Amino acid sequence: MEKIDVPKLREIVGENNIKADLSDLYIYGSDSSVHHAMPWVVVRPDNTLHVQQIMEYANQEVIPVIARGGGSGMCGQAVPSQGGIIMDMKGMNRILEINLPDVYCRVEPGVVDDDLNLALKSYGVFYPPTPASSRIATIGGEIANNASGVRSVKYGATRDAVLGMKVVLPNGELVSLGAYTRVEASGYQLHKLMVGSEGTLGIVVEATLSFVPIPEFRCMGVANFDSLQDAGEAIGAIMSSGSNPSMLELVDSVAIKAVNKTMDLGLKEVAAALIFEADGMVKEAVDYEINKMRQICEKQNGQDIYASYDPQERAKIFMGRKKLFPALSKYDENLASTSLADDMAVPYSKMAEMAGKIHEIAAKNDIIMTAYGHCGSGCMHTKILMDTKREDQWKSAKKAITEVYEYVRSVHGTTSAEHGIGISKAESFKVEKSDSINLLTSIKKTLDPNNILNPGKLMQAPDDWVTATDLRYSVNSK
Ligand SMILES: Cc1cc2nc3c(=O)[nH]c(=O)nc-3n(C[C@H](O)[C@H](O)[C@H](O)COP(=O)(O)OP(=O)(O)OC[C@H]3O[C@@H](n4cnc5c(N)ncnc54)[C@H](O)[C@@H]3O)c2cc1C
Repeated sequence: MEKIDVPKLREIVGENNIKADLSDLYIYGSDSSVHHAMPWVVVRPDNTLHVQQIMEYANQEVIPVIARGGGSGMCGQAVPSQGGIIMDMKGMNRILEINLPDVYCRVEPGVVDDDLNLALKSYGVFYPPTPASSRIATIGGEIANNASGVRSVKYGATRDAVLGMKVVLPNGELVSLGAYTRVEASGYQLHKLMVGSEGTLGIVVEATLSFVPIPEFRCMGVANFDSLQDAGEAIGAIMSSGSNPSMLELVDSVAIKAVNKTMDLGLKEVAAALIFEADGMVKEAVDYEINKMRQICEKQNGQDIYASYDPQERAKIFMGRKKLFPALSKYDENLASTSLADDMAVPYSKMAEMAGKIHEIAAKNDIIMTAYGHCGSGCMHTKILMDTKREDQWKSAKKAITEVYEYVRSVHGTTSAEHGIGISKAESFKVEKSDSINLLTSIKKTLDPNNILNPGKLMQAPDDWVTATDLRYSVNSK
């Protein structure tokens, strides 16, 4: 803290855009993960010049800088594990251009996803990578994490939608990466490198994003299953059949029970349910897709199958999935829902086995884990429900995570589908990337020789996060 020249930063961003009170620092020490660490100061730039000046200063003094958007990251990406400056990007939240003829928009990084989609709606288009956290997640945070969402199965993740961007490098230099066009053949695709880099290579100050037309027709269906295995196999069968769902989500029995406890939806408490959707400009084409998925579900022993075009009915079908994350905290009032081994991706043929493994490993380690996610994209989420005050539960969780990740790697899956690595998943990331870790480290060193941008994340994060990193829970060791 002594290192920080607060008056100098105040000069750059102005009195109202700096926070150094203990209470503010405490709040900015957490994101949506289990981790917590105090920053030394919080600055809120209003424009690119502010960002450049802050970076120049921090680079000179070798002070860590952690960009922060909505703070909804689940793996500790925005937690300042080595202290330093939190650069809160939410003040840079202008939509700069919506260019319909050229099918792109330009936005500042602090624009909240829902706000962008609200603005795009009046033009008849939408930005599809939208995560479930779209009410709070910012475009900068989504780029840094390569966020994706329920519609990514058809429309792709953030990386697919980013055409270009402006980035401030650690030394304060401003660079333009990518293009405004759909194709750009030569040179290294540096804008794509920034996607998923978790704020470790540069600060995104502007993004050029593609969008797509809002479809005329959307039809959503749901199918219940008495066996998780059958539901998992239905996912694989749908995706390998040539179907083109605009959504394919799994929820398991733990998730259904949690939703029933918090919402008056009266969901049937089955082993698993699949929510599927098709969209398009031609109703017959949407009918065709929905019927195909319905038939596959039936063949895999799906029951109570029901589909609707009606917006209210669709909202009702999707409500439980939409509110699942908060609902999981209510599953059992003695258990907290923690984001630990919270997302991975496996090949479609392994979906059923993966969902089963999650339950099997949880039972073996005396914790509760749920299996759900954007399974059409190969993505499988879990949450660990545990008593966070008990040290033995953290040990069990750690063991369970290790086992889940070993399984994921054994079937050529990845331990980061969309929620990133941050601190929580670093140990597994290092194993998964063992033959390219030196290359990743050299890229980081080239762009950030003083290691000031979000240090201690990705391949730099400690292996044993339970003991090496402050948790935001107080844990009884007895
Ligand atoms: C309820 C809930 C549901 C979620 N659902 C999904 C989901 O469906 N799909 C999904 O992908 N994720 C999901 N997430 C995770 C999270 O919302 C996403 O990872 C999101 O992209 C984070 O955005 P943010 O603005 O909150 O970023 P933050 O958490 O503030 O930051 C995340 C990372 O981005 C970096 N960063 C932020 N701004 C910039 C910038 N301008 N330049 C460079 N780096 C920057 C930070 O340094 C940090 O490393 C969910 C989270 C919650 C709490």
